[in-house]
Amino acid sequence: MPRLVMKFGGTSVANLDRIRRAAKRVGVEVAKGYEVIVIVSAMSGKTNELVGWVNETSPMYDAREYDAIVSSGENVTAGLMALTLQEMDVPARSWQGWQVPLKTTDAHGSARIEEIPTENLDAKFKEGMKVAVVAGFQGISPEGRITTLGRGGSDTTAVAFAAAFEAERCDIYTDVDGVYTTDPRVSDKARKLDRIAFEEMLELASLGAKVLQTRSVELAMRYRVKLRVLSSFEEMDDNAGTLVCAEEDIVESNVVSGVAFVRDEAKMTLISVADRPGIAAAIFGPLSEAGVNVDMIIQNISEEGRTDMTFSCPVNEVARAEKAMADAKASGSINYHDLVADTDVAKVSVVGIGMRSHAGVAAKMFHALQAEGVNIKVITTSEIKISVLIDRKYMELAVQALHDAFELEKA
Ligand code: ADP
Ligand code: ASP
Ligand code: MG
Repeated sequence: MPRLVMKFGGTSVANLDRIRRAAKRVGVEVAKGYEVIVIVSAMSGKTNELVGWVNETSPMYDAREYDAIVSSGENVTAGLMALTLQEMDVPARSWQGWQVPLKTTDAHGSARIEEIPTENLDAKFKEGMKVAVVAGFQGISPEGRITTLGRGGSDTTAVAFAAAFEAERCDIYTDVDGVYTTDPRVSDKARKLDRIAFEEMLELASLGAKVLQTRSVELAMRYRVKLRVLSSFEEMDDNAGTLVCAEEDIVESNVVSGVAFVRDEAKMTLISVADRPGIAAAIFGPLSEAGVNVDMIIQNISEEGRTDMTFSCPVNEVARAEKAMADAKASGSINYHDLVADTDVAKVSVVGIGMRSHAGVAAKMFHALQAEGVNIKVITTSEIKISVLIDRKYMELAVQALHDAFELEKA
């Protein structure tokens, strides 16, 4: 029998009524002859609440207990979805990650999936089960402890199941009807894309578009999973939503496909560090060991053997970065005059595979920002993206200006 994976995000299972509506969609696919693996998130807001409880109880929490707690939201929705389907006379059973078992690394809080053995679910499907409802976001470590896959991780659970069970398609049901040229909450000119290339989606996701978790796009690209993003609130339609697909399956696309942003960034500058071989390693080694996710890096012009080193990181990692640098200074491995943190910055990026063959994208981006009086603090580029760091208060303005400049509202 053909198989389908259907993933329902938090807003799509926010209450019993929405779970019923989602279950009806599952019922329609079962009636078409599919065996369905349903991946559910926790009810919207639940995971945030659980994370809050963890932080309140223990700010320097044990990550194993964090996972035990924050994974629990999905257990509830998985059971409720299975019960709802049973009420509709659809043979369904729920599975927590460890029961499958979805095997992961032991990197608690951001574990990676290692293996999904198919035997257990296959045996149940053979017995007549039509729907396996699996709790997203969670797995089990080699030590047998519960792990989670990082925020937004149910997307990754869904794609991994689609790959492991060779599903015909992986449908990600969410609160928007597809992938847009930018977050529709920030620009009302955002346009829904019918198709987007894996590589572009990968960049957009990693540069802040949380509609799909980055790792889910990586997996879909590697295993060529047919991945679709669509709304759980609209009429069912086989052509609905956005298909994330290979570049060669896209007939025509704009030079820039989308604008992404990260609101809560920080820019840190180490003033007057010695400009000598090994200094970058002496700075970024301790930062990495402290779990600081450094993004952009610039080394300023040096004078008389001293230089300034600037880097960006998420704003909630500033305290850790400051401590790592203070410790390194105290141990004598680096020496600097001051560490200046600018915690009011945001990152805005334009993404498009068309950039490979078109010059002038950067110039156009900088002109558009200049026209709005937005000062650029740091710039980084890759083959298919350009990112800038700007003052946070200009973030929405910058996103809209770039959306206009690259005429993204037009197909
Ligand atoms: P779910 O709970 O279903 O996983 P998420 O909140 O994680 O949903 O992701 C959906 C949200 O992603 C949308 O509501 C939207 O605000 C946001 N988003 C950000 N960038 C984009 C984009 N380019 N296209 C569509 N949605 C986007
Ligand atoms: N519930 C988890 C979160 O909020 C996982 C997910 O929804 O994808 O991050
Ligand atoms: Mg999500």
